[in-house]
Amino acid sequence: MRMFGVTGWKNAGKTGLMERLVSEITARGFSVSTVKHAHHAFDVDHEGRDSYRHRAAGAHEVMLASGARIAQMTELRGDAEPPLEVLLVRLKPVDLVLIEGYKREAHPKIEAFREVAGHDLIAPKDATIKAVASDIALDLDRPVFDLDDTAAIADFVLQSVGLIEDTPQRTTALKPPPLKNDCFALPPGVNWTPVDEALEALRDRLKPVVGQEVVPLMQAAGRVLAADVVAKRSNPPLPNTAVDGYGFAGGVPDGEAVFPLIEGRAAAGVPFQGIVSAGHAIRVLTGAALPEGVDTVVLEEDCAISDTQIAFNGPVKQGANTRKAGEDVTAGDVALPQGRVLTPADLALAAAIGFGELPVYLPLRVGVLSTGDELVEPGQEAKPGQIYDANRPMLLAAIARFGYEAVDLGRVADSREALKAQLNEAAAQVDVILTSGGASAGDEDHVSALLRESGALAEWRIALKPGRPLALGIWDGVPVFGLPGNPVAAFVCTLIFARPSLSVLAGSGWRVPDHYDLPAAFSKRKKPGRREYLRARMRNGHAEVFKSEGSGRVSGLSWAEGLVELGDEGRDIKEGDLVRYYPYGSFGL
Ligand code: AMP
Ligand code: MG
Repeated sequence: MRMFGVTGWKNAGKTGLMERLVSEITARGFSVSTVKHAHHAFDVDHEGRDSYRHRAAGAHEVMLASGARIAQMTELRGDAEPPLEVLLVRLKPVDLVLIEGYKREAHPKIEAFREVAGHDLIAPKDATIKAVASDIALDLDRPVFDLDDTAAIADFVLQSVGLIEDTPQRTTALKPPPLKNDCFALPPGVNWTPVDEALEALRDRLKPVVGQEVVPLMQAAGRVLAADVVAKRSNPPLPNTAVDGYGFAGGVPDGEAVFPLIEGRAAAGVPFQGIVSAGHAIRVLTGAALPEGVDTVVLEEDCAISDTQIAFNGPVKQGANTRKAGEDVTAGDVALPQGRVLTPADLALAAAIGFGELPVYLPLRVGVLSTGDELVEPGQEAKPGQIYDANRPMLLAAIARFGYEAVDLGRVADSREALKAQLNEAAAQVDVILTSGGASAGDEDHVSALLRESGALAEWRIALKPGRPLALGIWDGVPVFGLPGNPVAAFVCTLIFARPSLSVLAGSGWRVPDHYDLPAAFSKRKKPGRREYLRARMRNGHAEVFKSEGSGRVSGLSWAEGLVELGDEGRDIKEGDLVRYYPYGSFGL
């Protein structure tokens, strides 16, 4: 009989989960029966009823039957409580028996867990618990489901008992709790925040906001690992030969060596079953497991070969041309850490150490919204006074290059109501919102005004050029990056502030871009007090900068291939002085 249990402490939501699973699984066309353990002497009929009177008079079993249902009661009268297996034989055959309680029995179970119930998890101490259904995110060595995600739990139960095939994509964990409204607050009294302080605050306060799923290895490139990958198997799994040649035992000293050949050979995937006796050699092909009695291999090119023997010149060191089991990775090693963005090479490694699927974070959905009455859709007709929305295509493409799911939230006019409606809709749809425009403190700066109204705005006056105040806030639990409207400032703020923040929200941790120090192909006098980013590119090993620093100059962004960063301090830069250059590629573009 296929069975699956639901366990958990009191008030953890066991019965609710049982109820939802019975309903979900029967709705999928499977027949389900249940067994429920009760700790007390429950009664199903009441004193004075006919069936009660039968029982009280001493009947061993009472069957109560009508056209609607049948109840069978057995009086234990002090006999030992029967184990589960004795109860199960009483049930008619069904597709699945769901069992509530009976946590000491050996059947597979899922543990219902609610943090508020005030108990510790049972799962870490009990291997029969195959998964946990929880109302908070948990870091466990087995799947964790959202307690309310009945469909995913039903998938897991049905797969575990073999009623359905493994589905290729399973959501196995819940979204972590949303960020708190005060998460972007800066200490009061701070005026111009240095860039490094702003970055540090973001790094310390943000955390992953995405759930997790398990995906086939073949589809995992570019995804973010949600748990350490611990080698299930060593690589190589067995000692084997690194070359085509002849294997034997022990090293060979200087001088000529002759070995009689034994019949047979060892090839990759087709091992030699016998034992190679001392003083004999056997034909081995690259990748073949070393036969018993072989620990050293001589290259075939180094041998004179006849049908019955080989001859070669020593010395050959013991162990030559072989690979030891586990010399690359040993089973149990952490081969890939949580937070890693999986590369093609990582997939090779994960496959080699026994994985066919990997736990990953769900892709971060990043919404991009432009604000401003003056904006028109690219390619449409523009009236005098209107300008094209340049930020949205730029930001959407940058998000996609960063590896996230870019969600186009369109444009909104400078209307508080329209913006509010759009933010409400967006918050239900994405994990984080980037807006551009309307982020300072003017009459038409509705992004900052709305975030302020909702009580979750931090206007960050960052000591940075280009970039006016960055408005950071939380709308319905969703972080909002209110970027400046100027395309140059919006771009720089996206690379410097949004990109590392998005990386944390996506589960892949804070990122610091790589840079080079290059001799300047320009001269510039810079005042102290704020950091500057110049549109730049590398030519002949030197950093060139764009001819104008105007923050509306979109052409300079496109001309550039990176940014030159000038530190907070004042500087008098002469041609040939070293400046810090960040190619766009180091921001993931
Ligand atoms: P704001 O911060 O809304 O005052 O915008 C600052 C400047 O950026 C204004 O000149 C805007 O017209 C311009 N701007 C705002 N949004 C965009 C956009 N999506 N594309 C191009 N320019 C924009
Ligand atoms: Mg505007």
